Parts: sequence; C-alpha cells; structure tokens
Amino acid sequence: MLDTPIHLEYTFTPGIAQSRFLRGLAEGRFVGQRCPVCGKVYIPSRGSCPVDGVPTGEDVALSDTGIVTTYCVVNVPFAGQAIEIPYIAAQVLLDGANISFMGLIQGIPATDVRMGMRVQAVWVEPDELGPTLASVKYFTPTGEPDAPYETFEEYL
Ligand SMILES: [Zn+2]
Repeated sequence: MLDTPIHLEYTFTPGIAQSRFLRGLAEGRFVGQRCPVCGKVYIPSRGSCPVDGVPTGEDVALSDTGIVTTYCVVNVPFAGQAIEIPYIAAQVLLDGANISFMGLIQGIPATDVRMGMRVQAVWVEPDELGPTLASVKYFTPTGEPDAPYETFEEYL
C-alpha cells in the first residue's frame, strides 16, 4: 500500500551532452548532437550513439519546427493537472533530428491533430526561460502542408 500523494527528492546530474541540451533550452533553442559514424542527430543526446557506441561530440543547432509522428489524446483527469482536457501529448520529430521527443500540441482542436502535421515550438517568455523542458510551452501547427508519411515512417 502507498499513501499518496508521494514526494520524491532527487538530484539530477546531467552529463556534458545533456547539459548542452538543457543550456540550449535556457536560450530558447534546441541543441542536439551528431554521431560521427552514422551521422544521426540525437536530441537530447545521451552523449553517445546507441547504434555505434561512439561519443556524439558535435553539437547541432536544430530548428524549432518539426513533424508530429505519433500522438495521444489525453482525456483522463488526474490530481494536480495543469492542462485542460482533452489535450495532446505527441512525439515531435524536429527538422534535422533523427529521433523524436515528447511535446504538447495546442492551438488546434484535439480532433484535428494528425500524424505528419507540421508544428513549431512556442517558448515561454524570455525572462522565464530555463534549463528545463518547461521552457517549451507547447508545439502549435505551422499551417504548412502535412509531411508525407514516407518522410517520417522510420521514426514511428
Ligand atoms: Zn551512430
């Protein structure tokens, strides 16, 4: 049995690659890293390529636009929820990246979100930026045509 709510204190010590990613967020930009062997760009990088096992030392400044590869419509309320339901949690493949990461989609009815939709990050105000994913408020549609399925199918 667990008594809730649960409180957990922890210290996160990022490595060099994740530090660069987090510092980029504090500047309102996405920083990934490229593998020198396969050329894939990871964001956030773990500091090495999981395929080749070599360090990913080259920083790559990525666009804050990308593609919704998959998504989930959240309709379940929970304690402490800060966002009105329904909302969308999506995997966003940033332009120039070879791995997607989780982001919220807003600015569009949940029923209109789709795979391949072009989106752009909406950042918090400059004085609110910090080394955290909370610097990205959400992603919103750019209005550009959807990306063809073939361009992102390998990232599903
Ligand atoms: Zn590689």
